[in-house]
Amino acid sequence: MAADMASAEGNKQPIAFAIHGGAGTITKANLSEQKEAQIRAKLTEAVKAGYGQLKEGYSSLQAVQSAITILENSPLFNAGIGAVYTYNGEHELDASIMDGKTLNAGAVAGVKRIKNPIQLAFQVMEHSNHVMLTGTGAEEFAESRGIMFADNHMFDSQIRYEAWEKAKAKSEADKQAFYFKWPDYKFGTVGAVALDKNGNLAAGTSTGGMTLKRYGRVGDSPIIGAGTYADNASCAVSATGHGEFFIRYNVAADICARVKYKGESAEKAANDVIHKVLKPVGGSGGVIVLDNKGNISTPYNTEGMYRASIDQNGEIMVGIY
Ligand code: ASP
Repeated sequence: MAADMASAEGNKQPIAFAIHGGAGTITKANLSEQKEAQIRAKLTEAVKAGYGQLKEGYSSLQAVQSAITILENSPLFNAGIGAVYTYNGEHELDASIMDGKTLNAGAVAGVKRIKNPIQLAFQVMEHSNHVMLTGTGAEEFAESRGIMFADNHMFDSQIRYEAWEKAKAKSEADKQAFYFKWPDYKFGTVGAVALDKNGNLAAGTSTGGMTLKRYGRVGDSPIIGAGTYADNASCAVSATGHGEFFIRYNVAADICARVKYKGESAEKAANDVIHKVLKPVGGSGGVIVLDNKGNISTPYNTEGMYRASIDQNGEIMVGIY
């Protein structure tokens, strides 16, 4: 069926779609068969939803939002429901979206009561004069846009609560080194990249951040250039991993810049940044990258990264390790 579709499209503009559900210490040993099946099913649902919209002619921005909304609504991922807990035991959510055609972008950081932060990021892009709104300012803006609110407890999940308790029980010294030392820490941010029938790229990312993060900490996910970037002249990128490194190394924008200015393939640029730039300095994580011809690459330097894609030939891939 997939192949038929591709040939029916003939020489037309290719469409392609990819998502991630976070990178980290994901091994066969610490992921039960049942959990793995649930995660694969949810990734499949989200990637098919986004791709299906592209096929129907919806924009890359729409497909990105739809897939991320599905993942935010699932407790399996660290975004929306299932978000990690801050040191104070709350959830603070970050999200961003970028339009590769116009280089417009929208982002929210530290929101506590927004059911689907990716949708608010889109509203910031489309209906404000700003790129990023934070905290209560973002929530006030959300009210004016008719965005759906949720109690902070709605994002609770048993598994993230246990991770928080375990992290909190550590000594002060270990807590300081927590991000670097805790081997069974799992990330779990979600993201999507899309190429639509008009040749427009888009990227989006949504997260609860990192377990035990300080109140007010903002990671890379809502930062345009760090966790998210899209430019029709090069590629679309959504990142996941240890945010502080992704901010300092300007990861998403660096990948696009290598493609744009050095003429490298998106695959080479992404692999170099993940394995040759981040890995040596201890920056763990990965990216999903889609170029303007529909080529997808998903490099990561952790044990695993939840990911799924449907390429320009309509071939679906769902991967973890
Ligand atoms: N990059 C996210 C952050 O640092 C975490 C993740 O990707 O899991 O907030």
